[in-house]
Amino acid sequence: MNITPMIINGCPVGADTTLGVVNLVSTSGVADSAATLGVINPASGEVFAQVPAASSAHVDAAVAAAQAAFPAWRATPDAERQRLLHAIGAALEAHMPELMQLVMQESGKPVNGLDGVGAGMEVAGAIAWTHVTADLPLPVEVIQDDAVARVEVHRKPLGVVASITPWNWPLLIAIWHVIPALRAGNTVVLKPSEYTPLATLRFAELANAILPAGVLNVITGTGEVGAALATHAGVAKVVFTGSTETGRRIMQGAAPTLKRLTLELGGNDAGIVLPDVDVRAVAPKLFAACFHNNGQTCACLKRLYVHESIHDALCAELAALAGRVVVGDGADPATQLGPLQNARQLAIVESFAESARRDGGVFLCGGHRRPGPGYFFEPTIVTGLSDGSRLVDAEPFGPIVPVIRYADVDEVIARANANAQGLGGSVWSADPARAAALAQRLECGIAWVNEHGAVQPDAPFGGIKQSGIGVEFGRHGLLEFTTLQTLRVAK
Ligand code: NDP
Repeated sequence: MNITPMIINGCPVGADTTLGVVNLVSTSGVADSAATLGVINPASGEVFAQVPAASSAHVDAAVAAAQAAFPAWRATPDAERQRLLHAIGAALEAHMPELMQLVMQESGKPVNGLDGVGAGMEVAGAIAWTHVTADLPLPVEVIQDDAVARVEVHRKPLGVVASITPWNWPLLIAIWHVIPALRAGNTVVLKPSEYTPLATLRFAELANAILPAGVLNVITGTGEVGAALATHAGVAKVVFTGSTETGRRIMQGAAPTLKRLTLELGGNDAGIVLPDVDVRAVAPKLFAACFHNNGQTCACLKRLYVHESIHDALCAELAALAGRVVVGDGADPATQLGPLQNARQLAIVESFAESARRDGGVFLCGGHRRPGPGYFFEPTIVTGLSDGSRLVDAEPFGPIVPVIRYADVDEVIARANANAQGLGGSVWSADPARAAALAQRLECGIAWVNEHGAVQPDAPFGGIKQSGIGVEFGRHGLLEFTTLQTLRVAK
């Protein structure tokens, strides 16, 4: 089975030379990785590819390469960096079918997917984000320019950025981390999830054909490799997307060297449906907001609060939609929902279903894993629960959603806000102005009206409370990869 190499200082690393891969011993004195990790196709549960398991020496070598590349990359004119990033966008576009195939095979995501959310969207999004981010300006701000002094504020890169990405949107999130970091003049060491390293490695290979050596390095391995990278003294900033628990560990590990952080962590987004909605019209949108990518998106709708006057009617519509949704291998173009991404996530989702049963939940559909190979779980809708149940209070990150009855809108806003997470939230109504006023009372980083989960490359996205620190996307996101220097020239 082929071993897809890591990339350190522009060289493929981690497999032996018989595979036509450069041996790191000959280039930077670090031994090749003997160990490999299998990559599993979650639709079959079978290993279909291998990647190297990086050692601590590989982590050191990758950080050293990024440090060595930093001065020249920082000094590269802005316009040239933008040109190279656009070239990366073009390379992604030229390899779109191959990247879609890798994303589909390693993540289980269908090619098309429910509501168009699939591997195709992931790769198209990666291309769009690359181009929009490449075009973002980083102007010098002039605070004062008079007879006394000229005072300017400059944005400088930070140094080496460590990017640690999860398995739910592996390529897109790598792009969200890497492209703004490079745009601002930083160099990067990227560590994808051990479950989904392949599309990221291919992206890094394509990018390395365009970028100077050492500007973008990628190492593969388990969470231990992520921890070694995130705590490395040579790293100036960590950008991380994943669980709140790991985010906390990264924050602790950043303290000794005061690393800058952007943490995009879990969410337990509430959606509030007002009594004036057209139930039949709104049901498919709510269903897609809850179930796209099998609920494995940080900003999926995870707690659905529905006014008591329409609760039963909406539940019936949602259950009917669940009955019709096509679950299967993502390789089949008709598939709308694929498998869970990994066996551990499937076990987490099963345990949420068991908790809901114990708490007296009424299962309108689903509730079980599907027999046979792969990590499939039936789309599941549970009612009869309230706040205080695990399925309502915590994020399952899978195709299981509680529908919760409410009577009073002020009370339901308070219930939606009574949660440690604060990523997104939505209000659904025939009166968008009223819904927008209510949405602004939700304690979350992004509030939607009559939709849930839409993001765009030019508007900031990020959680508050325990959903994270900082934002990504657009000018606000770009600035997180910079530090300020105030320049005061006396006259
Ligand atoms: P983790 O947060 O553990 O993993 C995310 C990334 O961090 C992976 O690359 C992982 O590597 C790496 N990692 C793990 N431990 C460390 C560490 N100590 N230091 C640095 N990096 C580390 O997520 P899980 O895969 O365990 O998923 C668990 C839960 O996290 C899910 O049920 C879901 O609730 C949430 N989650 C949220 C995501 C989001 O988009 N906000 C995405 C994924 C998960 P490796 O995979 O190789 O272990």
